[in-house]
Amino acid sequence: MVTGSAVLSLTVCEREAWLIAHQIEPDQSNPYLEVGRFIHQESYPKRGIREVSLPGMKIDMIFQQGKVTIVGEIKKSSKFLEGARMQLLYYLYELEKRGVKASGKIMIPRERKQVEVRLGETEKEELEKFLEKAERILSLPKVPERKKTGFCRKCGYELFCWS
Ligand code: SF4
Repeated sequence: MVTGSAVLSLTVCEREAWLIAHQIEPDQSNPYLEVGRFIHQESYPKRGIREVSLPGMKIDMIFQQGKVTIVGEIKKSSKFLEGARMQLLYYLYELEKRGVKASGKIMIPRERKQVEVRLGETEKEELEKFLEKAERILSLPKVPERKKTGFCRKCGYELFCWS
């Protein structure tokens, strides 16, 4: 049930993470989602392998830098950097379990910024604790209560939650 998107959302809103994990689609016409899709499509068009789908993972790009395999996650801004870091750690962890050792990069083209993410022992422990929490929340029989936050305004479930 845990996916990279649910991990990212869980750092912002438990309800959103639950909805994603239960495959309840957000409003696709939400302008913030559209901007996100546009940035994903238009950025780094010639770099590496794009849109790699594996169970629970939708990796934006994989490329080589010297001898190192890099998993790149494209973001609109550095606003939810902690969530993006956790999402990338999850991808690196799942890839390592499948025998692929890689390093991560959060790529923020509009800010011309890249943030390195490495999966060491400390990060593994941190992620494993986070995944325990994720499994507990995502397997709840009912969607968690809505909570109004500054994020709701830009969230793809705004109509679902508040109209
Ligand atoms: S609209 Fe607000 S409460 Fe509803 S899922 Fe989004 S962030 Fe969570």
